[in-house]
Amino acid sequence: MSSRESISIFGVSASPGIVIGPVLFLGRRRFRRPDHRCLDVSEVGVEVERFQGVVDRVEEQLREIRQQFISSLDGYASIIDSHLLMLRDRMLYDRTIAIIEQEKKDAEWALDIALNEAREIFSQIDDPYLRERVHDVEQVAERVFRLLAGRTEDKFAAIDKKVIIAARDFAPEDILRMRNDQVLGFFTEKGGETSHTAIVARTLGIPAVVGAEEAVRQVVDGETVVLDGISGRIILSPSREQLDQYYEHQRQYRQYSEQVALYAHLSPETPDGLKVRVEANIEMVEEAIQAISYGAGGIGLFRSEYHYLGRSKLPDEGLLFEVYRNILTAISPFAVTIRTLDIGGDKLPAGDKGGEANPALGLRAIRLSLRDPLMFKTQLRALLRASVYGNLRIMFPMIASMGEVLAVKGYLAEVMAELAGQKIPFNEQVPIGIMIEVPGAVSIADVLAKEVDFFSIGTNDLIQYALAIDRGNENVAHMYEPFHPAVLRMIRQVVEAGHEAGIEVGMCGEMAGDMSCLPVLLGLGLDQLSMNSMAIPYVKRMIRHSIAEEAEQLAASIFRCASSREVYDLLGEYLPRHYPDEFGPGGIRTLRKSGGLRTVADNKQGMDRARIL
Ligand code: PEP
Ligand code: MG
Repeated sequence: MSSRESISIFGVSASPGIVIGPVLFLGRRRFRRPDHRCLDVSEVGVEVERFQGVVDRVEEQLREIRQQFISSLDGYASIIDSHLLMLRDRMLYDRTIAIIEQEKKDAEWALDIALNEAREIFSQIDDPYLRERVHDVEQVAERVFRLLAGRTEDKFAAIDKKVIIAARDFAPEDILRMRNDQVLGFFTEKGGETSHTAIVARTLGIPAVVGAEEAVRQVVDGETVVLDGISGRIILSPSREQLDQYYEHQRQYRQYSEQVALYAHLSPETPDGLKVRVEANIEMVEEAIQAISYGAGGIGLFRSEYHYLGRSKLPDEGLLFEVYRNILTAISPFAVTIRTLDIGGDKLPAGDKGGEANPALGLRAIRLSLRDPLMFKTQLRALLRASVYGNLRIMFPMIASMGEVLAVKGYLAEVMAELAGQKIPFNEQVPIGIMIEVPGAVSIADVLAKEVDFFSIGTNDLIQYALAIDRGNENVAHMYEPFHPAVLRMIRQVVEAGHEAGIEVGMCGEMAGDMSCLPVLLGLGLDQLSMNSMAIPYVKRMIRHSIAEEAEQLAASIFRCASSREVYDLLGEYLPRHYPDEFGPGGIRTLRKSGGLRTVADNKQGMDRARIL
């Protein structure tokens, strides 16, 4: 405790856990010069060589780190591989050299310009996950800046006591180098929930808050800090009361998480025999291992966008095949549902930027695949070739019409015929499914169900399109409402249509992992729920404490509600009564939409807000 007033700041919860301790501030300055240096024509070549030399050294450093940590990485080597690729990416490498040559300015200045251009490109990307990849580019550039400035010190080697560390940003490889026994947790100015830094912190179980700009700006080296990775809160110089409160929170959280962890590998089944498949949403092969350790019974959504990002041309069949085979073999015998490419016209990696006025309503997802059959068939070939290596299911995003389903099946049949002609083995019976995330598809779910093997409801988009709420727009975020009766009715309609046709109906939008939604989803009869891995043990625990018949009654009464406010009122009464450990007065946590953990108090605020609206 220090003498100044306590300051409480919220960032983004990146990795759960509560830690309290002295802070070690690792600097907020960027290693770059404010002014540029003009070069003589004769100096240009030397400057380019200096830049290339530094990039070579950064590459060496990254390779060394990769080598050093390969055993503890649990497959996370590919994050470092992606940094290695970015280091040589045209956007940074070629562009910096071109600027040095054209503008005759020093490498730091040129790299800064190239980095700003890259930031601009990334800022136009709609998808939050893909947009956040800009942090990887920044982290790679930061390494180059550091070496250009002649800084080579190892900032972690000197840490000799237990501390919470704060910095402008950490690269994923920095997190790997933090010694768990010394680093209690960390917070940064930059970063988002799906940044690689956050993913690695979660994997290693280091509590972390990212995007806490104000906290990093105001922190005083050595003072006591409370880091609450559950709510994303940082308290600088906490008061005695706050410390007492947080020591108690810490105790409760430990107790609850120890208990919840026991549920990871139990069957997701209610005491009266209702079984639901609980699976994980992942973006990278490496996350599959984590998913299984959290108790996933399969991968319900593998977003395939990642491998199309950050490269100057589309990935070829061989690369995609490798990725899909790896994930299938890693997860076998569990099923892996791989979704075909879901990016929009404005986020194409190569050429064709589109520049659409309404990208969410534009050429995205399946529309893009059907517009570019060569690209689509390459992905389908890779998927089918991989299908013999495990339990693959193929899923198509943003289906809005029967025509699209038939077109997709047409391409699939073509690719199957090609492979058969080439005597390349594949699973002819590979299940195919569609995401139901467009209201039009909900209306015709009964006919669509006759053409596919499964449905997966994508509530992130379904809510956006049903309520006309841009899912990324803060101004309307409060209206983005899973409990809107329209959304609930749509879910019911899809489940009924699917079951009528005898196919499985799952859900892979964030709502599937939202603990406050779980009893309603159970009552509606969803067969499978796919969510962020961390949510799995929490959801399993709740399922095992649910009674199917009660959940059905809840769902029935929910449909008598005219507004989300009424639904909240009903749940506000139901949840604490049926799930006291999660929603009762004891301050135990719950999971919400963003994948972050929230306290009951936060939930209550959400409910109060809903009441006001
Ligand atoms: C969804 O829309 O609910 C979904 C799971 O897909 P994404 O978030 O990738 O659009
Ligand atoms: Mg979607």
